[in-house]
Amino acid sequence: MAQTDPAATVGKHPCPECGADLQWNAARQTLACPYCGTVVPYAPGQALPGASVVEQDLQQALSHPSSGRGWGGAAALEKREVQCQSCHAISVFVDGKVARRCDFCGSPSIIDHPSLNDAITPQSLLPFKVSEAQMRTRLRQWYGSRWFAPGKLKSAALTDTLSGVYLPYWTFDAQASARWHAEAGHYYYESESYQDAKGQRQTRQVRQVRWVPAAGSLDHFFDDQLVPGTAGVHPALLRQIEPFPTQTDLQPYSPEFVRGWTVERYQIDLGKAEKLNQDAMQQQMQVLCGRQVPGDTFRNLQVDARYQGRTFKHILVPVWLVSYTYGARSFQVVGNGYTGAMAGEQPYSWVKIGFAVLAVLLLILLLVSLNQ
Ligand SMILES: [Zn+2]
Ligand SMILES: [Zn+2]
Repeated sequence: MAQTDPAATVGKHPCPECGADLQWNAARQTLACPYCGTVVPYAPGQALPGASVVEQDLQQALSHPSSGRGWGGAAALEKREVQCQSCHAISVFVDGKVARRCDFCGSPSIIDHPSLNDAITPQSLLPFKVSEAQMRTRLRQWYGSRWFAPGKLKSAALTDTLSGVYLPYWTFDAQASARWHAEAGHYYYESESYQDAKGQRQTRQVRQVRWVPAAGSLDHFFDDQLVPGTAGVHPALLRQIEPFPTQTDLQPYSPEFVRGWTVERYQIDLGKAEKLNQDAMQQQMQVLCGRQVPGDTFRNLQVDARYQGRTFKHILVPVWLVSYTYGARSFQVVGNGYTGAMAGEQPYSWVKIGFAVLAVLLLILLLVSLNQ
């Protein structure tokens, strides 16, 4: 299994003009210097020097819990972790600003989280493709399409803080081979006589099932099965803005991409994620084997599946996030920083809903009176 030292993939790429650290610029899709504005040409899809996307051996990582951790070591880069006291999300900041409020829920009560260098280094990421200005436009359209949201919300769409956050994901690969056996059901029809309501003898066709034992085997390769590791973004919202094109567009991790952005530290760890992935694969194998059973239907399907060559990657995906509180509740609106897909939660204005109901009732009254 190909193993590289993550520290080797963490190179520094200073600004050629002033020597400051370069940052990823979503609007220009390239690396740029935040101080002197120098732009460094960067071809998308082309790895930065000395970096490549690597799959890690799962067994190796689980049995050697300290390998590939610490983000390449404290010497390679300065990072700071803070935890939100309200939603418990942990944010990582690389070489730069630390937010004063939680990006995930807006709470100001954030405290330092001991950075124990125990976090697995991200192997690759999708850099932001949708810029803040583009996301602001989408956000305005999205709020505009919410009929029953309180009016206050629409004006907030222009001023709300939009945070660019890299969310942690796990991806898993495995080669599965399964043996299955089941009872295959074949339909046939028998004539049956019965008495109808008038007491007359009638015949009808009744469906029967003939059960025959069946068995087979199946090989399947699982490629980049995603398991989110986030605690900060509500899972239902995340599902709505997936997919992230991880199979084709991942870039090898480099601190230039995350400097100046917030990175969420995963809270679903590798062990937990691996079990979720195992369950998901088993369910999928059950479905795939079920499709192989001959006949019209089946029952008692038993699948004995083995998973070999399991590898994983810890990756980061880009998300734009707005969080606001309305009344006592907190709401999130999220945008996929790569595809632009949006999803959000919103409070409802009962005054507006009340007026809409009233308007419908008046219309019905009007139509009724016109018909008379
Ligand atoms: Zn510079
Ligand atoms: Zn929070």
